[in-house]
Amino acid sequence: MGHNGRRYARALVWLRRDLRLRDNVALAAAAEQSREVVLAFVVSPELLRSDRMGAPIVQAFFEAIAALRADLRERGSDLAILEGDFETELMRLAQRVGADALFFNEDYEPSAIARDARVEAAFRDAGIEVQSFLDHVCLAAGDVRTDAGDPYRVYTPYAKRWRDRYATAPVLPVDSLRAAGTRFAPAAAIGASRALAQPEEFGFASSSQYPHCSESYAQHLLERYLAEGGGVDRYAAQRDVPADDATSHLSVQLRAGTVGIRDVFARAFRAARDVSRAKSVDKWIAELIWREFYQMLLKSFPRVVDHAFVEAGDNLRWENDERAFRAWCEARTGYPIVDAAMRQLNETGWMHNRLRMIVASFLTKDLLIDWRWGERYFEQHLADADLAQNNGGWQWAASTGADAAPYFRIFNPILQSKKFDPDGAFIRAMIPELRDVPDAAIHAPWEQPLLGSVYPPPIVDHAAARDRALASYAPVLGKKPR
Ligand code: FAD
Repeated sequence: MGHNGRRYARALVWLRRDLRLRDNVALAAAAEQSREVVLAFVVSPELLRSDRMGAPIVQAFFEAIAALRADLRERGSDLAILEGDFETELMRLAQRVGADALFFNEDYEPSAIARDARVEAAFRDAGIEVQSFLDHVCLAAGDVRTDAGDPYRVYTPYAKRWRDRYATAPVLPVDSLRAAGTRFAPAAAIGASRALAQPEEFGFASSSQYPHCSESYAQHLLERYLAEGGGVDRYAAQRDVPADDATSHLSVQLRAGTVGIRDVFARAFRAARDVSRAKSVDKWIAELIWREFYQMLLKSFPRVVDHAFVEAGDNLRWENDERAFRAWCEARTGYPIVDAAMRQLNETGWMHNRLRMIVASFLTKDLLIDWRWGERYFEQHLADADLAQNNGGWQWAASTGADAAPYFRIFNPILQSKKFDPDGAFIRAMIPELRDVPDAAIHAPWEQPLLGSVYPPPIVDHAAARDRALASYAPVLGKKPR
Protein backbone atom coordinates (compact mmCIF):
# COMPACT_ATOMS: atom_id res chain seq x y z
CA MET A 1 0.00 0.00 0.00
CA GLY A 2 1.23 3.45 -0.77
CA HIS A 3 0.94 6.86 0.80
CA ASN A 4 -2.35 7.32 2.70
CA GLY A 5 -3.11 3.74 1.83
CA ARG A 6 -3.56 4.72 -1.78
CA ARG A 7 -1.98 3.58 -5.01
CA TYR A 8 -1.73 6.12 -7.77
CA ALA A 9 -2.49 5.29 -11.36
CA ARG A 10 0.19 7.47 -12.85
CA ALA A 11 2.79 9.47 -10.96
CA LEU A 12 4.71 12.32 -12.50
CA VAL A 13 8.35 12.50 -11.38
CA TRP A 14 9.76 15.97 -11.90
CA LEU A 15 13.55 15.76 -12.29
CA ARG A 16 15.68 18.81 -11.54
CA ARG A 17 19.11 18.18 -10.01
CA ASP A 18 18.70 14.39 -9.94
CA LEU A 19 19.21 13.34 -13.56
CA ARG A 20 19.45 9.60 -13.02
CA LEU A 21 17.41 6.44 -12.62
CA ARG A 22 19.52 4.75 -9.91
CA ASP A 23 19.48 5.75 -6.23
CA ASN A 24 16.78 8.34 -6.87
CA VAL A 25 14.55 8.71 -3.81
CA ALA A 26 11.55 10.39 -5.48
CA LEU A 27 11.59 7.89 -8.33
CA ALA A 28 11.75 4.93 -5.94
CA ALA A 29 8.81 6.28 -3.93
CA ALA A 30 6.78 7.06 -7.06
CA ALA A 31 7.41 3.59 -8.46
CA GLU A 32 6.38 1.98 -5.20
CA GLN A 33 3.17 3.94 -4.89
CA SER A 34 1.90 4.03 -8.43
CA ARG A 35 1.18 1.74 -11.34
CA GLU A 36 3.21 3.85 -13.77
CA VAL A 37 5.68 6.70 -13.65
CA VAL A 38 6.27 9.49 -16.14
CA LEU A 39 9.58 11.34 -15.89
CA ALA A 40 9.78 14.99 -16.87
CA PHE A 41 12.35 17.78 -17.04
CA VAL A 42 11.43 21.43 -17.61
CA VAL A 43 13.83 23.58 -19.62
CA SER A 44 13.33 27.09 -18.28
CA PRO A 45 14.35 29.88 -20.67
CA GLU A 46 14.03 32.31 -17.78
CA LEU A 47 16.56 30.40 -15.69
CA LEU A 48 18.83 29.91 -18.69
CA ARG A 49 18.84 33.64 -19.38
CA SER A 50 19.83 34.55 -15.82
CA ASP A 51 23.34 35.86 -15.21
CA ARG A 52 23.96 33.01 -12.81
CA MET A 53 24.10 30.48 -15.64
CA GLY A 54 27.02 29.52 -17.85
CA ALA A 55 27.90 27.34 -20.84
CA PRO A 56 29.67 24.47 -19.01
CA ILE A 57 26.83 23.69 -16.61
CA VAL A 58 24.19 24.06 -19.31
CA GLN A 59 26.11 21.65 -21.53
CA ALA A 60 26.52 19.20 -18.63
CA PHE A 61 22.80 19.24 -17.82
CA PHE A 62 21.73 18.92 -21.47
CA GLU A 63 24.11 16.01 -21.99
CA ALA A 64 22.77 14.24 -18.92
CA ILE A 65 19.21 14.82 -20.10
CA ALA A 66 20.01 13.40 -23.53
CA ALA A 67 21.48 10.28 -21.93
CA LEU A 68 18.47 9.90 -19.68
CA ARG A 69 16.06 10.16 -22.59
CA ALA A 70 18.05 7.57 -24.56
CA ASP A 71 17.99 5.24 -21.56
CA LEU A 72 14.25 5.62 -21.06
CA ARG A 73 13.57 5.13 -24.77
CA GLU A 74 15.47 1.86 -24.64
CA ARG A 75 13.07 0.84 -21.92
CA GLY A 76 10.11 1.67 -24.14
CA SER A 77 9.34 4.88 -22.27
CA ASP A 78 10.54 8.48 -22.74
CA LEU A 79 11.66 11.57 -20.87
CA ALA A 80 9.10 14.32 -21.28
CA ILE A 81 11.18 17.42 -22.00
CA LEU A 82 9.10 20.53 -21.48
CA GLU A 83 9.97 24.15 -22.04
CA GLY A 84 8.57 27.24 -20.37
CA ASP A 85 7.13 28.13 -17.00
CA PHE A 86 7.49 25.27 -14.50
CA GLU A 87 3.99 25.33 -13.10
CA THR A 88 2.20 25.77 -16.42
CA GLU A 89 4.16 23.13 -18.26
CA LEU A 90 4.06 20.51 -15.52
CA MET A 91 0.32 20.99 -15.05
CA ARG A 92 -0.29 20.67 -18.77
CA LEU A 93 1.69 17.42 -18.85
CA ALA A 94 -0.03 16.10 -15.74
CA GLN A 95 -3.40 16.68 -17.33
CA ARG A 96 -2.36 15.18 -20.64
CA VAL A 97 -1.08 11.94 -19.12
CA GLY A 98 -3.70 11.81 -16.38
CA ALA A 99 -1.23 12.01 -13.50
CA ASP A 100 -2.73 11.80 -10.04
CA ALA A 101 0.47 12.51 -8.11
CA LEU A 102 3.60 14.62 -8.43
CA PHE A 103 6.90 13.46 -6.92
CA PHE A 104 10.14 15.42 -6.72
CA ASN A 105 13.36 15.70 -4.74
CA GLU A 106 14.03 18.78 -2.62
CA ASP A 107 16.57 21.45 -3.47
CA TYR A 108 17.90 23.73 -0.69
CA GLU A 109 18.35 26.84 -2.83
CA PRO A 110 15.96 29.56 -1.65
CA SER A 111 14.73 30.30 -5.18
CA ALA A 112 14.06 26.59 -5.76
CA ILE A 113 12.20 26.33 -2.46
CA ALA A 114 9.96 29.24 -3.47
CA ARG A 115 9.38 27.79 -6.94
CA ASP A 116 8.57 24.35 -5.56
CA ALA A 117 6.08 25.81 -3.10
CA ARG A 118 4.27 27.51 -6.02
CA VAL A 119 4.15 24.34 -8.07
CA GLU A 120 3.03 22.30 -5.10
CA ALA A 121 0.20 24.70 -4.29
CA ALA A 122 -1.02 24.69 -7.89
CA PHE A 123 -1.05 20.90 -7.99
CA ARG A 124 -2.86 20.60 -4.69
CA ASP A 125 -5.43 23.10 -5.92
CA ALA A 126 -5.94 20.90 -8.95
CA GLY A 127 -6.51 17.90 -6.67
CA ILE A 128 -3.20 16.23 -7.48
CA GLU A 129 -1.18 14.96 -4.56
CA VAL A 130 2.40 16.10 -4.11
CA GLN A 131 5.27 14.37 -2.31
CA SER A 132 8.83 15.64 -1.96
CA PHE A 133 11.91 13.86 -0.68
CA LEU A 134 15.42 14.40 0.58
CA ASP A 135 17.83 13.23 -2.10
CA HIS A 136 20.68 15.61 -2.98
CA VAL A 137 22.34 15.28 0.43
CA CYS A 138 22.70 12.22 2.59
CA LEU A 139 21.57 13.75 5.90
CA ALA A 140 18.96 16.48 6.06
CA ALA A 141 20.00 19.94 7.28
CA GLY A 142 17.68 19.60 10.25
CA ASP A 143 18.99 16.19 11.25
CA VAL A 144 22.54 17.24 12.11
CA ARG A 145 22.17 19.79 14.87
CA THR A 146 23.97 20.75 18.09
CA ASP A 147 22.70 19.39 21.41
CA ALA A 148 20.76 22.64 21.77
CA GLY A 149 19.08 21.97 18.43
CA ASP A 150 20.86 24.75 16.57
CA PRO A 151 22.56 24.47 13.21
CA TYR A 152 26.34 24.12 13.40
CA ARG A 153 28.50 27.05 12.36
CA VAL A 154 31.80 25.21 12.41
CA TYR A 155 32.75 22.24 10.25
CA THR A 156 34.66 19.97 12.68
CA PRO A 157 31.90 19.40 15.27
CA TYR A 158 29.35 19.22 12.43
CA ALA A 159 31.39 16.51 10.72
CA LYS A 160 31.75 14.59 13.97
CA ARG A 161 28.02 14.60 14.57
CA TRP A 162 27.38 13.79 10.91
CA ARG A 163 29.60 10.72 11.22
CA ASP A 164 27.92 9.64 14.47
CA ARG A 165 24.52 9.86 12.83
CA TYR A 166 25.62 8.01 9.74
CA ALA A 167 27.27 5.30 11.85
CA THR A 168 24.12 4.68 13.88
CA ALA A 169 21.71 4.94 10.95
CA PRO A 170 23.45 4.80 7.57
CA VAL A 171 21.36 6.20 4.75
CA LEU A 172 21.73 3.53 2.09
CA PRO A 173 21.11 3.86 -1.64
CA VAL A 174 17.56 3.20 -2.78
CA ASP A 175 16.93 0.68 -5.52
CA SER A 176 14.90 3.04 -7.67
CA LEU A 177 15.66 1.35 -10.94
CA ARG A 178 14.47 -2.05 -9.77
CA ALA A 179 11.45 -0.47 -8.09
CA ALA A 180 10.62 1.36 -11.29
CA GLY A 181 11.37 -1.78 -13.31
CA THR A 182 8.54 -2.23 -15.72
CA ARG A 183 6.64 0.74 -14.40
CA PHE A 184 7.86 3.47 -16.74
CA ALA A 185 4.87 4.67 -18.73
CA PRO A 186 5.07 3.65 -22.39
CA ALA A 187 6.28 6.37 -24.76
CA ALA A 188 2.91 6.44 -26.52
CA ALA A 189 1.17 7.35 -23.27
CA ILE A 190 3.55 10.25 -22.70
CA GLY A 191 3.23 11.61 -26.21
CA ALA A 192 5.60 13.90 -28.05
CA SER A 193 7.57 16.52 -26.15
CA ARG A 194 10.33 18.85 -27.22
CA ALA A 195 13.52 17.74 -28.95
CA LEU A 196 16.74 17.57 -26.98
CA ALA A 197 17.86 21.05 -26.03
CA GLN A 198 21.19 22.38 -27.31
CA PRO A 199 23.26 25.02 -25.48
CA GLU A 200 23.40 27.16 -28.66
CA GLU A 201 19.60 27.61 -28.63
CA PHE A 202 20.07 29.63 -25.46
CA GLY A 203 23.18 31.52 -26.53
CA PHE A 204 25.81 29.22 -24.99
CA ALA A 205 28.77 27.85 -26.95
CA SER A 206 29.50 24.13 -26.58
CA SER A 207 33.03 22.90 -26.04
CA SER A 208 34.56 19.43 -26.21
CA GLN A 209 36.76 20.49 -23.30
CA TYR A 210 33.91 20.81 -20.81
CA PRO A 211 33.25 17.87 -18.49
CA HIS A 212 31.03 15.03 -19.66
CA CYS A 213 27.96 14.37 -17.64
CA SER A 214 25.64 11.38 -17.65
CA GLU A 215 24.56 8.60 -15.35
CA SER A 216 26.78 5.99 -17.02
CA TYR A 217 29.76 8.35 -17.06
CA ALA A 218 29.27 9.11 -13.36
CA GLN A 219 29.23 5.40 -12.52
CA HIS A 220 32.39 4.90 -14.54
CA LEU A 221 34.16 7.82 -12.79
CA LEU A 222 33.13 6.64 -9.34
CA GLU A 223 34.12 3.02 -9.92
CA ARG A 224 37.48 3.92 -11.39
CA TYR A 225 38.23 6.43 -8.65
CA LEU A 226 37.41 4.09 -5.77
CA ALA A 227 38.97 0.96 -7.28
CA GLU A 228 42.08 -0.29 -5.54
CA GLY A 229 45.00 1.79 -6.78
CA GLY A 230 42.53 4.40 -8.08
CA GLY A 231 42.84 8.14 -7.50
CA VAL A 232 41.38 7.97 -4.01
CA ASP A 233 44.44 6.08 -2.77
CA ARG A 234 46.56 9.14 -3.58
CA TYR A 235 44.05 11.60 -2.19
CA ALA A 236 45.48 12.19 1.29
CA ALA A 237 48.96 12.80 -0.08
CA GLN A 238 48.27 14.50 -3.39
CA ARG A 239 44.89 16.17 -3.31
CA ASP A 240 46.43 19.64 -3.21
CA VAL A 241 48.66 19.15 -6.24
CA PRO A 242 46.82 20.31 -9.35
CA ALA A 243 49.26 18.68 -11.77
CA ASP A 244 48.66 15.30 -10.17
CA ASP A 245 44.90 15.25 -10.72
CA ALA A 246 44.25 13.04 -7.68
CA THR A 247 40.70 14.25 -7.13
CA SER A 248 37.55 12.52 -8.36
CA HIS A 249 35.97 15.14 -10.66
CA LEU A 250 32.65 13.95 -9.29
CA SER A 251 31.49 17.48 -8.46
CA VAL A 252 29.89 17.91 -11.88
CA GLN A 253 28.02 14.62 -11.52
CA LEU A 254 26.87 15.53 -8.00
CA ARG A 255 25.64 18.88 -9.28
CA ALA A 256 23.50 17.38 -12.03
CA GLY A 257 22.66 14.40 -9.85
CA THR A 258 23.88 11.82 -12.36
CA VAL A 259 25.05 9.89 -9.30
CA GLY A 260 23.25 9.48 -5.99
CA ILE A 261 25.02 10.80 -2.90
CA ARG A 262 23.95 7.77 -0.82
CA ASP A 263 25.60 5.54 -3.40
CA VAL A 264 28.81 7.62 -3.24
CA PHE A 265 29.00 7.54 0.57
CA ALA A 266 28.13 3.84 0.81
CA ARG A 267 30.86 2.89 -1.64
CA ALA A 268 33.40 5.19 -0.01
CA PHE A 269 32.73 3.81 3.46
CA ARG A 270 33.03 0.30 2.04
CA ALA A 271 36.41 1.15 0.50
CA ALA A 272 37.52 2.66 3.81
CA ARG A 273 37.02 -0.69 5.55
CA ASP A 274 40.32 -1.81 4.04
CA VAL A 275 42.80 -0.56 6.65
CA SER A 276 45.55 -0.01 4.12
CA ARG A 277 43.31 2.43 2.25
CA ALA A 278 41.30 3.85 5.13
CA LYS A 279 43.30 7.02 5.77
CA SER A 280 43.18 8.31 2.23
CA VAL A 281 39.56 7.30 1.58
CA ASP A 282 38.56 8.90 4.86
CA LYS A 283 40.09 12.19 3.79
CA TRP A 284 37.90 12.05 0.71
CA ILE A 285 34.84 11.28 2.82
CA ALA A 286 35.68 14.38 4.89
CA GLU A 287 35.39 16.49 1.72
CA LEU A 288 32.04 14.97 0.85
CA ILE A 289 30.95 16.00 4.35
CA TRP A 290 32.08 19.56 3.54
CA ARG A 291 29.51 19.44 0.78
CA GLU A 292 26.84 18.33 3.26
CA PHE A 293 27.99 21.11 5.63
CA TYR A 294 27.64 23.84 3.01
CA GLN A 295 24.24 22.53 1.90
CA MET A 296 23.12 22.57 5.53
CA LEU A 297 24.36 26.15 5.92
CA LEU A 298 22.45 27.34 2.86
CA LYS A 299 19.26 25.70 4.13
CA SER A 300 19.73 27.01 7.68
CA PHE A 301 21.02 30.51 6.80
CA PRO A 302 19.53 31.41 3.41
CA ARG A 303 20.68 35.02 3.84
CA VAL A 304 24.20 33.91 2.81
CA VAL A 305 22.95 34.08 -0.77
CA ASP A 306 23.68 37.79 -0.81
CA HIS A 307 25.07 38.56 2.64
CA ALA A 308 28.19 37.72 4.58
CA PHE A 309 27.66 34.82 6.98
CA VAL A 310 29.63 36.76 9.61
CA GLU A 311 27.41 39.80 9.67
CA ALA A 312 30.23 42.31 10.15
CA GLY A 313 31.57 41.09 6.81
CA ASP A 314 28.89 43.16 5.07
CA ASN A 315 30.77 46.27 6.21
CA LEU A 316 33.96 45.47 4.35
CA ARG A 317 35.00 48.19 1.93
CA TRP A 318 35.88 46.69 -1.43
CA GLU A 319 37.98 48.46 -4.04
CA ASN A 320 36.08 46.73 -6.87
CA ASP A 321 38.48 47.92 -9.54
CA GLU A 322 36.86 46.79 -12.81
CA ARG A 323 40.15 46.62 -14.71
CA ALA A 324 41.74 44.44 -12.07
CA PHE A 325 38.65 42.23 -12.12
CA ARG A 326 38.90 41.80 -15.89
CA ALA A 327 42.57 40.92 -15.59
CA TRP A 328 41.66 38.24 -13.05
CA CYS A 329 38.85 36.87 -15.22
CA GLU A 330 41.03 36.86 -18.31
CA ALA A 331 44.05 35.25 -16.64
CA ARG A 332 46.26 38.33 -16.99
CA THR A 333 47.23 39.01 -13.37
CA GLY A 334 50.90 38.27 -14.01
CA TYR A 335 50.91 35.64 -11.23
CA PRO A 336 51.36 32.36 -13.12
CA ILE A 337 49.55 30.13 -10.63
CA VAL A 338 46.52 32.46 -10.61
CA ASP A 339 46.49 32.79 -14.40
CA ALA A 340 46.99 29.06 -14.98
CA ALA A 341 44.05 28.38 -12.67
CA MET A 342 41.81 30.89 -14.45
CA ARG A 343 42.73 29.38 -17.80
CA GLN A 344 41.79 25.97 -16.46
CA LEU A 345 38.42 27.41 -15.47
CA ASN A 346 37.82 29.35 -18.67
CA GLU A 347 38.86 26.52 -20.96
CA THR A 348 37.64 23.39 -19.19
CA GLY A 349 34.70 24.48 -17.02
CA TRP A 350 36.33 23.02 -13.88
CA MET A 351 39.07 24.13 -11.49
CA HIS A 352 41.08 22.21 -8.92
CA ASN A 353 40.12 22.93 -5.31
CA ARG A 354 43.53 24.26 -4.22
CA LEU A 355 43.43 26.67 -7.14
CA ARG A 356 39.90 27.80 -6.30
CA MET A 357 41.23 28.77 -2.87
CA ILE A 358 44.25 30.56 -4.36
CA VAL A 359 42.32 32.60 -6.95
CA ALA A 360 39.54 33.43 -4.49
CA SER A 361 42.05 34.67 -1.94
CA PHE A 362 43.81 36.67 -4.64
CA LEU A 363 40.59 38.34 -5.76
CA THR A 364 39.26 39.18 -2.31
CA LYS A 365 42.53 39.97 -0.51
CA ASP A 366 45.14 41.02 -3.07
CA LEU A 367 42.64 42.88 -5.26
CA LEU A 368 40.06 43.73 -2.57
CA ILE A 369 37.21 42.80 -4.88
CA ASP A 370 33.85 41.75 -3.45
CA TRP A 371 33.57 37.97 -3.10
CA ARG A 372 30.19 38.14 -4.83
CA TRP A 373 31.90 39.18 -8.07
CA GLY A 374 34.09 36.11 -7.94
CA GLU A 375 31.20 33.91 -6.91
CA ARG A 376 29.19 35.10 -9.89
CA TYR A 377 32.08 34.57 -12.30
CA PHE A 378 32.50 31.01 -11.01
CA GLU A 379 28.77 30.39 -11.44
CA GLN A 380 29.06 31.38 -15.07
CA HIS A 381 32.13 29.24 -15.75
CA LEU A 382 31.97 26.10 -13.60
CA ALA A 383 30.23 22.96 -14.78
CA ASP A 384 29.79 22.10 -11.09
CA ALA A 385 28.54 25.56 -10.06
CA ASP A 386 26.46 24.89 -6.97
CA LEU A 387 25.17 27.80 -4.89
CA ALA A 388 25.83 26.14 -1.51
CA GLN A 389 29.45 25.07 -2.08
CA ASN A 390 30.34 28.03 -4.24
CA ASN A 391 29.02 30.58 -1.78
CA GLY A 392 30.62 28.66 1.08
CA GLY A 393 33.96 28.48 -0.72
CA TRP A 394 33.96 32.17 -1.59
CA GLN A 395 32.97 33.30 1.88
CA TRP A 396 35.59 30.98 3.33
CA ALA A 397 38.25 32.61 1.17
CA ALA A 398 37.00 36.13 1.89
CA SER A 399 37.02 35.35 5.65
CA THR A 400 33.34 36.26 5.92
CA GLY A 401 32.08 32.69 6.04
CA ALA A 402 31.35 29.89 8.48
CA ASP A 403 34.56 28.46 9.89
CA ALA A 404 36.47 30.62 7.41
CA ALA A 405 40.18 31.26 7.28
CA PRO A 406 41.03 34.17 9.63
CA TYR A 407 41.41 37.32 7.53
CA PHE A 408 45.03 37.86 8.51
CA ARG A 409 46.03 34.51 7.03
CA ILE A 410 46.41 35.70 3.48
CA PHE A 411 47.63 33.30 0.80
CA ASN A 412 50.92 34.32 -0.78
CA PRO A 413 50.42 33.30 -4.43
CA ILE A 414 54.13 32.71 -4.97
CA LEU A 415 54.55 30.49 -1.91
CA GLN A 416 51.37 28.59 -2.78
CA SER A 417 52.73 28.08 -6.26
CA LYS A 418 56.07 26.81 -4.99
CA LYS A 419 54.41 24.48 -2.54
CA PHE A 420 51.71 22.94 -4.70
CA ASP A 421 53.20 23.18 -8.19
CA PRO A 422 56.88 22.89 -7.24
CA ASP A 423 58.31 22.23 -10.69
CA GLY A 424 55.70 24.36 -12.45
CA ALA A 425 54.18 21.39 -14.30
CA PHE A 426 50.63 22.70 -13.97
CA ILE A 427 51.62 26.26 -14.89
CA ARG A 428 53.46 25.06 -17.99
CA ALA A 429 50.55 22.86 -19.07
CA MET A 430 48.12 25.77 -18.90
CA ILE A 431 50.40 28.62 -20.00
CA PRO A 432 52.51 27.41 -22.93
CA GLU A 433 54.17 30.86 -23.14
CA LEU A 434 55.98 29.92 -19.93
CA ARG A 435 57.00 26.45 -21.02
CA ASP A 436 60.67 27.26 -21.40
CA VAL A 437 61.03 29.42 -18.32
CA PRO A 438 63.56 27.89 -15.91
CA ASP A 439 62.18 26.38 -12.71
CA ALA A 440 63.74 29.15 -10.65
CA ALA A 441 61.59 31.78 -12.36
CA ILE A 442 58.36 29.90 -13.09
CA HIS A 443 56.52 31.16 -9.98
CA ALA A 444 57.52 34.81 -10.38
CA PRO A 445 58.59 35.39 -13.98
CA TRP A 446 58.91 39.17 -13.59
CA GLU A 447 62.20 38.37 -11.92
CA GLN A 448 63.37 37.41 -15.45
CA PRO A 449 62.99 40.76 -17.23
CA LEU A 450 63.46 39.28 -20.70
CA LEU A 451 60.12 37.54 -20.40
CA GLY A 452 58.25 40.82 -20.33
CA SER A 453 57.10 40.51 -23.91
CA VAL A 454 55.50 37.07 -23.56
CA TYR A 455 53.97 37.43 -20.15
CA PRO A 456 52.41 40.41 -18.38
CA PRO A 457 53.95 41.92 -15.23
CA PRO A 458 52.06 41.40 -11.94
CA ILE A 459 49.07 43.74 -11.57
CA VAL A 460 49.75 44.17 -7.84
CA ASP A 461 52.73 43.72 -5.59
CA HIS A 462 51.68 41.01 -3.15
CA ALA A 463 53.44 42.48 -0.10
CA ALA A 464 51.79 45.88 -0.61
CA ALA A 465 48.44 44.30 -1.43
CA ARG A 466 48.63 42.23 1.73
CA ASP A 467 49.18 45.35 3.85
CA ARG A 468 46.26 47.05 2.15
CA ALA A 469 44.00 44.05 2.81
CA LEU A 470 44.99 43.89 6.47
CA ALA A 471 44.31 47.61 6.86
CA SER A 472 40.95 47.22 5.23
CA TYR A 473 39.86 44.08 7.11
CA ALA A 474 41.14 44.90 10.60
CA PRO A 475 38.61 47.62 11.51
CA VAL A 476 35.74 45.41 10.35
CA LEU A 477 36.71 41.94 11.53
CA GLY A 478 38.84 42.88 14.51
CA LYS A 479 42.48 43.28 15.29
CA LYS A 480 44.91 40.54 14.52
CA PRO A 481 45.52 38.56 17.73
CA ARG A 482 49.07 38.66 19.05
P1 FAD B 1 37.10 15.85 -4.75
O1 FAD B 1 38.31 16.37 -4.09
O2 FAD B 1 37.19 14.53 -5.42
O3 FAD B 1 35.95 15.82 -3.65
C1 FAD B 1 34.81 14.97 -3.73
C2 FAD B 1 33.56 15.78 -3.58
O4 FAD B 1 33.51 16.38 -2.29
C3 FAD B 1 33.44 16.92 -4.56
O5 FAD B 1 32.94 16.48 -5.79
C4 FAD B 1 32.51 17.86 -3.83
O6 FAD B 1 31.18 17.46 -3.97
C5 FAD B 1 32.91 17.67 -2.38
N1 FAD B 1 33.91 18.68 -2.00
C6 FAD B 1 35.25 18.62 -2.16
N2 FAD B 1 35.84 19.71 -1.66
C7 FAD B 1 34.86 20.49 -1.19
C8 FAD B 1 34.83 21.74 -0.54
N3 FAD B 1 35.94 22.43 -0.27
N4 FAD B 1 33.64 22.26 -0.20
C9 FAD B 1 32.49 21.59 -0.44
N5 FAD B 1 32.46 20.39 -1.04
C10 FAD B 1 33.63 19.85 -1.41
N6 FAD B 1 32.29 22.74 -5.28
C11 FAD B 1 31.21 22.51 -6.03
O7 FAD B 1 30.74 21.38 -6.13
N7 FAD B 1 30.57 23.54 -6.69
C12 FAD B 1 31.03 24.82 -6.62
O8 FAD B 1 30.44 25.72 -7.22
C13 FAD B 1 32.20 25.08 -5.85
N8 FAD B 1 32.72 26.33 -5.77
C14 FAD B 1 33.84 26.55 -4.99
C15 FAD B 1 34.34 27.86 -4.88
C16 FAD B 1 35.47 28.12 -4.10
C17 FAD B 1 35.99 29.53 -3.98
C18 FAD B 1 36.11 27.06 -3.42
C19 FAD B 1 37.33 27.31 -2.59
C20 FAD B 1 35.62 25.77 -3.53
C21 FAD B 1 34.48 25.49 -4.31
N9 FAD B 1 33.95 24.18 -4.43
C22 FAD B 1 32.82 23.97 -5.18
C23 FAD B 1 34.52 23.05 -3.65
C24 FAD B 1 35.62 22.23 -4.37
O9 FAD B 1 36.59 23.07 -4.90
C25 FAD B 1 35.06 21.33 -5.47
O10 FAD B 1 33.97 20.58 -4.98
C26 FAD B 1 36.10 20.35 -5.97
O11 FAD B 1 37.23 21.02 -6.46
C27 FAD B 1 35.50 19.49 -7.07
O12 FAD B 1 36.43 18.59 -7.60
P2 FAD B 1 36.34 17.05 -7.32
O13 FAD B 1 34.97 16.56 -7.58
O14 FAD B 1 37.46 16.41 -8.07
O15 FAD B 1 36.60 16.99 -5.75
